[in-house]
Amino acid sequence: MEGENSSPVDPELLAILACPKCKVRVELEQDRLVCGQCGRRYRVEDGIPIMLIDEAEPAAAGWKPKGK
Ligand SMILES: [Zn+2]
Repeated sequence: MEGENSSPVDPELLAILACPKCKVRVELEQDRLVCGQCGRRYRVEDGIPIMLIDEAEPAAAGWKPKGK
């Protein structure tokens, strides 16, 4: 089966996703989408990103916003 180990999220979908709180782009880190501003981590289920603040994991300990 080809494509099984490709990105867990469609790159075109990833390009339009944003953190619902910050309205900024999220980055794919392993199987999580991480907000570059608040550090919340959104999980992906069967290729569907769960972009809900209530469902997000808090920023990792020691996480810092990028670009500052
Ligand atoms: Zn955010």
